Amino acid sequence: MSKKERTAIEPTRAENYAEWYQQVIRAADLAENSEVRGCMVIKPWGYAIWENIQRFLDEMFRETGHRNAYFPIFIPKSYFEKEAEHVEGFAKECAVVTHSKLEDDGKGGLKPAGELTEPYIVRPTSETIIGASFAKWVNSYRDLPLLINQWANIVRWEMRTRLFLRTTEFLWQEGHTVHESQAEAMDETLKMLDIYARFAQDYLAIPVIKGEKTEGEKFPGAVNTYCIEAMMQDKKALQSGTSHFLGQNFAQASNIRFQNREGEFQHAWTTSWGVSTRLIGALIMAHSDDNGLVLPPKIAPSHIAIIPIYRDEAEHAAVMALAKSINEAFKHTEFEGVRVYTELDDRDLTSSERNWYWIKKGIPLRVEIGPRDVASNSVMVARRDQGSREKRSVAVESVVEHCLQTLSAMQLNILEQALLFREANTVKIDGKDAFYAFFTPKNSQQPEIHGGFALSHWCGGSACEEKIKEDLKVTVRCIPFDSEPEQGKCVCCGQPSERRVIFAKSY
Ligand SMILES: [Zn+2]
Repeated sequence: MSKKERTAIEPTRAENYAEWYQQVIRAADLAENSEVRGCMVIKPWGYAIWENIQRFLDEMFRETGHRNAYFPIFIPKSYFEKEAEHVEGFAKECAVVTHSKLEDDGKGGLKPAGELTEPYIVRPTSETIIGASFAKWVNSYRDLPLLINQWANIVRWEMRTRLFLRTTEFLWQEGHTVHESQAEAMDETLKMLDIYARFAQDYLAIPVIKGEKTEGEKFPGAVNTYCIEAMMQDKKALQSGTSHFLGQNFAQASNIRFQNREGEFQHAWTTSWGVSTRLIGALIMAHSDDNGLVLPPKIAPSHIAIIPIYRDEAEHAAVMALAKSINEAFKHTEFEGVRVYTELDDRDLTSSERNWYWIKKGIPLRVEIGPRDVASNSVMVARRDQGSREKRSVAVESVVEHCLQTLSAMQLNILEQALLFREANTVKIDGKDAFYAFFTPKNSQQPEIHGGFALSHWCGGSACEEKIKEDLKVTVRCIPFDSEPEQGKCVCCGQPSERRVIFAKSY
């Protein structure tokens, strides 16, 4: 057997996917664990990805009539208690502020003092605190629809955390809207789900399945929760965004009432919807390889690394002159409406070290310029979505055009690869034995990558849902919008079922 080819990330995906994920983040310098338990430090390369997510999504929110605002991080306990299901869903993971100051403890340290008469909850989501404002803002049908978005941090106390996927504090956006009618609120809920799906596909190059959550998986307090689900390269699902139709539950809890067109007072209809820094986890796991991060160009913080290569002073001058002029040529260029950013990397490191640095960071293109390239008036261009040794010689006069076209092509190729992967790992399964076999690893000690999306019949009963979850750690990810009515038998109990749902292991 030939020796395994060395990869920049060890272990590889196949060897240990969970550890590979951590190592990709470390190698790309995206984030690190904070000394504050369960919290992360997002480093510049990771934060720049989040800023791009914010920027593009924010434009889409604005185009659909939403406006940004900001509400308090603290929620009085009494607000939180107003919606029973909501309390039950979040109570176990709330950070609670009980004191307002620190005092000398007489032993050289400090102790909390000034106990609050009413504790504050650090927001785990903002329906109740935003509802309190909306109750004041909404008086008449003329005030509706009210379309608000907030970019904020959130705290949900987590016992087991993982960078970007599950942390005690994370960043997100939460949209909150108020409507005159049920139909209008439902339209809004589905419109925002469409925006998330479009954003995931067009910018993150992640194909997603739109659907509805089961009763057991929906947002605490919502009437219906809709989601987009994506497949990661370990064939698990990652819920990448949710949109909730809240009915009149929160309007009643917060007393959001308005005078309708008939002059009568009634409760309004509300929605909420959100995506978070989890999307960065999705990006990493959907596209990266055993050499590190792979970024779809439209979301990458920077697009092209220019790497000058020279041995002595004489070569240095000529190579740097060309490198600088190429770097300059990319100023004010764009592809797919996205501004191009470059990195001229002249650090005192070998060309191989600089090359691998950018490969691990997932920069889409690398442009190498050496003395021979100067002589032939060309450069070498390498793509991150191809093998690390694959390069192509490109004439200097066409390098800008070539790179811009390649960035567009890469965006599509990365989406295409993710789509092919999902299709190859999505199967219709009938019968309990086949279903259990699909989700059971061959090696139980060190489970190999297994499973995928199973399109199977489900009776709709929570008992079957819970049994499958307990036996296999598999859940109904969603009832997909595009599933055709079809007669079948529940994969768990054999009772009649009307349609297939998506089962998978998930993050
Ligand atoms: Zn059943």
